[in-house]
Amino acid sequence: MIVYNLSCEAGHKFEGWFQRADDYARQKAEGSLSCPVCGSSRVEKRPTASHINTRSSLSDRQSAMAATPPKAAAAAIQKLYRYIDQHYTDVGAAFPEEARKMHYRECEEHNIRGTATPDEVGALYEEGIEVFSLPPKPVDKEKLN
Ligand SMILES: [Zn+2]
Repeated sequence: MIVYNLSCEAGHKFEGWFQRADDYARQKAEGSLSCPVCGSSRVEKRPTASHINTRSSLSDRQSAMAATPPKAAAAAIQKLYRYIDQHYTDVGAAFPEEARKMHYRECEEHNIRGTATPDEVGALYEEGIEVFSLPPKPVDKEKLN
């Protein structure tokens, strides 16, 4: 995987993820490269290029998480959210409490989703309760329009 820092004609800066170095040139020629902010296909490579280091430090990982996910990943995340919407009961902010109830067998095990603060998540882990944090939901362009 290769990451290029790209920017569009309007000056939006984003990252493009490519399997190989020549994928950038090919996708640009096809016009399939576009700015995730404004959709412009007039995209240029900014001078710095970096390779993804799988053993990156925490700060590298944090910046990777803030980056715009590639299209395929965004689609996969959308799918994940759709699945969770359909199969998991939304308990909202009661999530830590509900997760704890199931862990201590105070209620039937069932799929739940909800929100928790980092402190609450930390406390759950300490009690041996595994929770899964979802990746940030990608912006749904169709809904915006
Ligand atoms: Zn743009």
